[in-house]
Amino acid sequence: MTEGHFSSRLSASAPLDLLDEAAETLPTEHTHRAGTALSFELIPPRHDADEAKLNDLIAGLNAYEPDYVAVTSSHRSGWLEGTADFIARLNAQTNLRTIAHLACTAGTEEELADWIRRLIHSGVRGFLALRGDLPEGETSLPDGYLQYATQLLTLIQDIEDENAYRLAAGKLALSVACYPSGHAESATPDLDLDVLLSKQRLGADFAITQLFFEAEDYLRFVEQSRMAGVRIPLIPGIMPMTSLKRAQRMGVLSGIEVPERVVEKLQNAEDEYEAGMELTVELAAKLLDAGVGGLHIYTHNNLAVTQDLLSRLGIEPKN
Ligand code: FAD
Repeated sequence: MTEGHFSSRLSASAPLDLLDEAAETLPTEHTHRAGTALSFELIPPRHDADEAKLNDLIAGLNAYEPDYVAVTSSHRSGWLEGTADFIARLNAQTNLRTIAHLACTAGTEEELADWIRRLIHSGVRGFLALRGDLPEGETSLPDGYLQYATQLLTLIQDIEDENAYRLAAGKLALSVACYPSGHAESATPDLDLDVLLSKQRLGADFAITQLFFEAEDYLRFVEQSRMAGVRIPLIPGIMPMTSLKRAQRMGVLSGIEVPERVVEKLQNAEDEYEAGMELTVELAAKLLDAGVGGLHIYTHNNLAVTQDLLSRLGIEPKN
């Protein structure tokens, strides 16, 4: 199997076999890691966030010359207000390519259409189209809201058409979410695959995965997706595990159970951070050694942890 086998279109052929090979070669030479595609997820800062720290975060991540950075959107950061402000700041301070997360839960279809126009006008050229989490106890969103990410994909493209002149006939980068460990609401893994296939059919250029704890889950998911006809890149989202509490909290938020193996290692560790980092590096290294061409790091705006993880993987800042 050639190096970079997974790099652009993540092939369907036997990735699980590669895991055994990868395990035999760990720890690896890092020489090939310099070419790894890299992207970061950032969270809009709170209004009272430390300015100096924010500037350090932006400069520190920029130094890796990532392929893009994706900015989340949530109730906590005033939905798209926080996302748009932070993207404006990133655009003012760097040449980073920014992608705005956009969730159906953020507003009615009409409100979302307005936001998409505003974000395009302010320079955003990529979106992560999401449904968002349903309010507790609800099984659908209110009338006037889009119900699924696929509908949002279509809305974004309608507004892209409206703005064809502004975009100089260029295209927005359209991404979507996918779930190596399954989406909590999906009755079967087949439904997850069907949904991913329709996202591809409706124009998604690539997908970013929900966090996962085992490399095998991702590689199996890629293999099954390829067999089902998914051709778009499925970029693995990597969450640095820095403590058991954090892993469990992120697991709950994502509807994924933390595997017993991970719980035990973190519970019994003298140095929880060190043990968590070892697990995260092991996870990411297995993917890279299996030929996966890129990583998307959930930074949680923590520069030091992101740098530590990348450095252990042999990925250093470029400037
Ligand atoms: P969808 O793809 O719409 O799927 C939602 C559920 O409905 C799934 O169970 C799916 O199987 C099912 N489904 C989809 N289409 C149909 C259909 N036509 N008929 C029947 N069932 C269907 N949330 C935020 O609020 N803000 C963020 O910034 C954010 N960033 C994220 C980044 C990444 C990389 C990921 C993976 C998730 C992120 N989320 C974010 C969380 C996401 O919003 C939730 O996981 C949400 O529950 C599902 O979103 P989705 O886009 O996958 O929804």
